[in-house]
Amino acid sequence: MAHTDIQVPDIGDFDEVAVIELLVKVGDTVAVDQSLITVESDKASMEIPSSHAGVVKEIKVKLGDKVKQGSVVLVLEVAGAADAPAAPAAVIAPVSAPPSAPVTPVIASEAKPSTPASSYTGAVDVDCDVLVLGSGPGGYSAAFRAADLGLKVVMVERYPELGGVCLNVGCIPSKALLHVAAVMDEVSHMSALGVDFGKPKLNLDMLRAHKDKVVGKLVGGVGSMAKMRKVTVLRGYGSFVDANHLQVEETTGTAQDKTGGKQVVSFKTCIIAAGSQAVHLPLFPDDPRVVDSTGALQLAKVPKRMLVVGGGIIGMEMATLYSTLGSRIDVVEMTDGLMQGADRDLVKVWQKMNAPRFDNLMLKTKTVSARAMAKGIEVTFEGEGAPAPQVYDLVLQAVGRTPNGKKIAAEKAGVAVTDRGYINVDIQMRTNVPHIFAIGDIVGQPMLAHKAVHEAHVAAEVIAGELQGNKELAASAFNARVIPSVAYTDPEVAWVGLTEDQAKAQGIKIKKGLFPWAASGRATANGRNEGFTKLLFDDSPEAHGHGKILGGGIVGPTAGDLIGEVALAIEMGADAVDIGKTIHPHPTLGESIGMAAEVAHGSCTDLPPARK
Ligand SMILES: Cc1cc2nc3c(=O)[nH]c(=O)nc-3n(C[C@H](O)[C@H](O)[C@H](O)COP(=O)(O)OP(=O)(O)OC[C@H]3O[C@@H](n4cnc5c(N)ncnc54)[C@H](O)[C@@H]3O)c2cc1C
Repeated sequence: MAHTDIQVPDIGDFDEVAVIELLVKVGDTVAVDQSLITVESDKASMEIPSSHAGVVKEIKVKLGDKVKQGSVVLVLEVAGAADAPAAPAAVIAPVSAPPSAPVTPVIASEAKPSTPASSYTGAVDVDCDVLVLGSGPGGYSAAFRAADLGLKVVMVERYPELGGVCLNVGCIPSKALLHVAAVMDEVSHMSALGVDFGKPKLNLDMLRAHKDKVVGKLVGGVGSMAKMRKVTVLRGYGSFVDANHLQVEETTGTAQDKTGGKQVVSFKTCIIAAGSQAVHLPLFPDDPRVVDSTGALQLAKVPKRMLVVGGGIIGMEMATLYSTLGSRIDVVEMTDGLMQGADRDLVKVWQKMNAPRFDNLMLKTKTVSARAMAKGIEVTFEGEGAPAPQVYDLVLQAVGRTPNGKKIAAEKAGVAVTDRGYINVDIQMRTNVPHIFAIGDIVGQPMLAHKAVHEAHVAAEVIAGELQGNKELAASAFNARVIPSVAYTDPEVAWVGLTEDQAKAQGIKIKKGLFPWAASGRATANGRNEGFTKLLFDDSPEAHGHGKILGGGIVGPTAGDLIGEVALAIEMGADAVDIGKTIHPHPTLGESIGMAAEVAHGSCTDLPPARK
């Protein structure tokens, strides 16, 4: 028996193509012309056949790799051929690798080299196919998908409530409160239309109770669904003891106080979904009047003067809430604009409408010191928009979130963690340890619940596929083209895919279709026609005037609900005709997407004729 390299043959006009599917695994016997991998260019996908018959000894590519003619796909053991020189291995190993298994080098350069994993030989309390660490949208989605695929699952959570940041102190409570704020704002405009509801009377206890009830309902739902799926939930603080064991220190109460009780879970595979936490700036004193988003959502009281540190989405959502409830708001932001990442034209519309909320909008400015005084928190600023020191009743730090990678003793499992606490993964959500996966905030930006959920499904499917020998599931990969972003402010700002600013910076030629909501019947009827819908299409010479949609942005009420259609169009490779010819119901705000496509196409009749 001898070894031979199977290479990518001539693939025509394509220089580099991405590996999107592995059709064989180590140990498989393959015939001549049997397909080995599927590759995809931006125009087509194709299967790469084997030039020899034999047994697969080593796979040289992994999902997401770029290959070209001559790249070695795998090493085959064939009868009678001369031995080919062996290249360094990049094996996609079976997921149930033993603790001592070699580490597959998928980690990017920022990650610290992993130390050799420890080896645990003590007693085991629970065993499972998949251990999921964390019960946020990433964790519970992974646990439920794995259970639905027939695996024995244990999910570990340190807090009493399941659901993680999103359900308890993030997406859901913020939206419960923002909904109330949006209704209050809407109602306040009604007097101009002849219906006056008077000045709102605020009962903060009831408002808080409403938010808590919403959270409780959804958290309870996650618990019930875990039971229905027979997912074992262990309450406690999880940390690795080696690559196949996790210690769970039992926690109690409303926080994470340890009881001293310990359990050890033995797992075949693991999905790390331990999330992130708010960044706290050391310059601020430890004082109840200095909060992060979790503290702000507790809504202890409505401050007279509030400083929001950080002009990102979370900061602006909280600014919206508190200003509607009656606070005067200052915002300090280090960069030159709010909601970085969104195109400036979208933000401009939001900013114009929201100007009355802010006393001071300090851009290119930072906080340099702060001290707790009886009358409030005195903050000193530095930079272009810096005023004299100011005193606030509440300071919200909304300057980002940091991943929890350094808090789970990942090194004992051999899992590499970057200096900033992220865990790098490949396109299948696999860490450098082949049977340990990671998902959600802990693997990187964007830190969004919908990203975590999709990554969760991929990890669970790959694990189930590999444990059960199901090739289709084992080939699952996170290959979403785009992930939408939404600021649930008033108006909402939503964007997905390529932005105009990115297109400019990257020299990508685009055709823009912009439909102003001033021309939308529904937006006008709603009295909210300040927004617009913008779609960006590929206008490179290769697109020959029929370029696919590359991105889009919407500003206006419910923009967050509308942007999903743009994401779908991008995923499906739609062009302006596809979108424009899709019949949208009238009169709706969603119509603006079809009309923006018509604008790009030159066939919109809801706007004045284009100037020739
Ligand atoms: C105010 C706010 C508003 C937001 N709004 C939105 C929004 O509108 N839309 C959106 O998509 N995203 C939003 N996000 C972001 C979203 O909440 C996160 O992206 C999402 O929760 C990440 O999910 P995850 O599963 O990765 O981690 P998390 O939700 O952080 O869950 C991780 C879980 O792991 C547990 N855990 C960590 N370490 C351990 C350990 N050692 N042992 C046991 N348990 C452990 C934690 O207690 C936590 O429950 C918001 C975030 C905030 C703060």
